[in-house]
Amino acid sequence: MSSSLDTLIFDNRFTRELPADPEATNQRRQVLGACYSRVTPVQTRQPSLVACAREVAQMLDLPEEVCDAEQFVRVFSGNEVLVAMDPYAMCYGGHQFGHWAGQLGDGRAINLGETINGRGERWVLQLKGAGPTQYSRSADGLAVLRSSVREFLCSEAMHHLGVPTTRALSLVLTGDQVVRDMFYDGHPLPEPGAVVCRVSPSFTRFGSFEIFAARQDWDLLRQLLDHTIRTDFPHLPEPGIETYVVWFDEVCRRTAELIVHWMRVGFVHGVMNTDNLSILGLTIDYGPYGWLEDYDPDWTPNTTDAEGRRYRFGQQAQIAQWNLGQLARALAPIVQQVEPLQESLMRYSNLYNDGYNSMMANKLGLQSRDGASDAELIKDLQSVLQLRETDMTLFFRSLAGLSMETTAKLADAALLKPFEAAYYQTDPLTREQHHDTLSWMRRYVERARRDGTPDGTRRQQMNSVNPKYVLRNYLAQLAIDKSAEGDHSMVHELLDVLRRPYDEQPGKEVFAEKRPEWARHRAGCSMLSCSS
Ligand code: AMP
Ligand code: MG
Repeated sequence: MSSSLDTLIFDNRFTRELPADPEATNQRRQVLGACYSRVTPVQTRQPSLVACAREVAQMLDLPEEVCDAEQFVRVFSGNEVLVAMDPYAMCYGGHQFGHWAGQLGDGRAINLGETINGRGERWVLQLKGAGPTQYSRSADGLAVLRSSVREFLCSEAMHHLGVPTTRALSLVLTGDQVVRDMFYDGHPLPEPGAVVCRVSPSFTRFGSFEIFAARQDWDLLRQLLDHTIRTDFPHLPEPGIETYVVWFDEVCRRTAELIVHWMRVGFVHGVMNTDNLSILGLTIDYGPYGWLEDYDPDWTPNTTDAEGRRYRFGQQAQIAQWNLGQLARALAPIVQQVEPLQESLMRYSNLYNDGYNSMMANKLGLQSRDGASDAELIKDLQSVLQLRETDMTLFFRSLAGLSMETTAKLADAALLKPFEAAYYQTDPLTREQHHDTLSWMRRYVERARRDGTPDGTRRQQMNSVNPKYVLRNYLAQLAIDKSAEGDHSMVHELLDVLRRPYDEQPGKEVFAEKRPEWARHRAGCSMLSCSS
């Protein structure tokens, strides 16, 4: 029976080793003394497959025919639970927008179980939007097509960009309507319901630990910690106080690396609450995220955060550190000393700063390192990119096209080209802008010459870290608009183009263009709310 999901091998360690909610009912409540609650996905009316990511299926050892079979849609809509699965919702808390929010938990996510593939890798399967759980609070546990398309495509796009992330196996329409007030303006509308199957080694978050610390349930905190270390950090020594310290240091390191990646590709998460930060340093919970168009460190796609802009592009590193600080506070009572945790938090800053500068030097195609003066060059570039609306992705990509071998003879016009290719405004530069931009360019050319990397090599290296194709906000919205009318072709096409974000892909250039003017203020393209 090779064309059946029954070949999946499950080893449900989380539910086997950690305490379950003793109450069996699926009622919204505070769940005490437990890491999770067992819950069954809700039945959907008429599920149909929108898309399946073949690489994720392969990761699970699922042949293509399995994804095309009817059983696949039944299982990944939640209509059928395989015998070896053990569905549950996780209990966690979190700091939302800087304030402790108490118990949150999987309100619209249900873990189906942990699979082990032929290479011995552990992958947890999770349905997002499969109905209410004990943690749904006042919401319905469901998800709509627009947010599910965004989660599905972005998870895979991030993976192919080389950014640590949870993955997405499938996107299924449920055939049910879900009512949403998209703008929180008192105009709720029915929208098509959908379910994404997310795949990750673990869905444990910072908030998974914070909740037990807030409840002073040290025993449970230690149990979850030991389980996490043994399962997800098997290279670490047996759990104990010393290992907790090393573990926290690794979480700090992974988080620093993650944020450097986000800054590299221009990704803004949008809701970096502690319940949305993965203990493995993966990008998790794709909600009102967005991709930077013009380089603006103050930009956030999340309308819910428009005022304080806590989660703006340029503040992601500091917020991640603040979140790590909350995790440290949760751990301190069982680590029994704060100094090593504080040291890790400080190390995070250094790792991030070094990582950021090194990443930016790579984006600029520099192979040698000239610490302080490169840092200055990078800082000044950030200012020049803000002189007018400059598309970050297009700028770095066109910068790679510049020839250092001939540039000495080139006029100012040639030096300004990489910027001009990326400008949103078409009016001429002011004298001052012209001067500042050109003088930065001259410094850059001088520095790149000193670096001595031949044009071809430099270009190749730059193009391997500066993507040509990212999931531009308006592209996702166009795919959503089509899908809502029953045409899923653009979801498939984007999934395909975003598989090779660093390649030129002749014929696909339309997906690498600047955001069109109509999308500047359109909902879904530049503004998103948490409502999904
Ligand atoms: P978020 O910040 O979007 O990741 O969500 C914060 C909390 O709200 C989590 O506990 C989610 O599970 C929960 N939540 C968000 N949307 C829904 C929904 N439609 N139904 C139930 N719970 C939800
Ligand atoms: Mg979340």
